[in-house]
Amino acid sequence: MQQRPYRGRLAPSPTGLLHVGHACTFWTAYRRVAAHNGTLVFRNEDLDPQRSKPELAQAMLEDLRWLGIRWQEGPDTGGPFAPYEQSRRRELYLETWRKLRDRGHIYPCTCSRKDLAAAAAAPNEDDDEPIYPGRCREKIYQAKSYHSPAGVNWRFLVPAGEAVAFDDLRQGPQSFMAGQDFGDFIVWRRDDVPAYQLAVVADDAAMQITEVVRGADLLKSTARQLLLVRALALPVPAYYHCDLVRDADGLRLAKRHDALSLRTLREQGRTPEQVLCMCS
Ligand SMILES: [Zn+2]
Repeated sequence: MQQRPYRGRLAPSPTGLLHVGHACTFWTAYRRVAAHNGTLVFRNEDLDPQRSKPELAQAMLEDLRWLGIRWQEGPDTGGPFAPYEQSRRRELYLETWRKLRDRGHIYPCTCSRKDLAAAAAAPNEDDDEPIYPGRCREKIYQAKSYHSPAGVNWRFLVPAGEAVAFDDLRQGPQSFMAGQDFGDFIVWRRDDVPAYQLAVVADDAAMQITEVVRGADLLKSTARQLLLVRALALPVPAYYHCDLVRDADGLRLAKRHDALSLRTLREQGRTPEQVLCMCS
């Protein structure tokens, strides 16, 4: 098989200011692109219209430039796979939704928030999406009667009992059990917003990303995304999940509500070198 030219990406969400944890991950992504003589893509993951703010998108670009990171393609520089804002890529996500629907991988879920709360077993510790008990699975036979995804949640039917394994370039061999470590996850939200998993898989393939560098908190998401990649018959990227940055008490920086933003550090007079020294 011919080796594809290395393409990496930075994919922040403009829902808050970038902090040290982001800086470390993005710096690693930048260095890996440089080491491979590759191309770095900046993708603004502004999918959620409620939580995304244009001024935060601007701040992300400025903060990463201040840190010394340079990218070849992005919302500010353009490039062959534009647009680089997820809010402008809806047609691709709809096409992806249609493929998943037609191939029998997703079903409409009409459970209310209340139904789900009552049915949920103990929520898994490090993940925000509780395991769905599967009560709408039989609706997979109605999927093709939907011409648009709006109005219900759409879930991916996971192969329960199958181990999804991959070799992470940083964290080593990984394996997650479908149906046990994660359940039928949402690919399209009732409020007509594509879910993170679907958008990321569609974009990484469309932008020809060969290596995904991101934080180790997304290892389990990678297992979900690999199922989507397979269902859509897309090329599988390599994965490199960075160690999470913790403070002196061992608490993840991302979980601290006073997490040090790059903005704050910069205003306090810290240099990019001093910020990068906080990375493990
Ligand atoms: Zn349901």
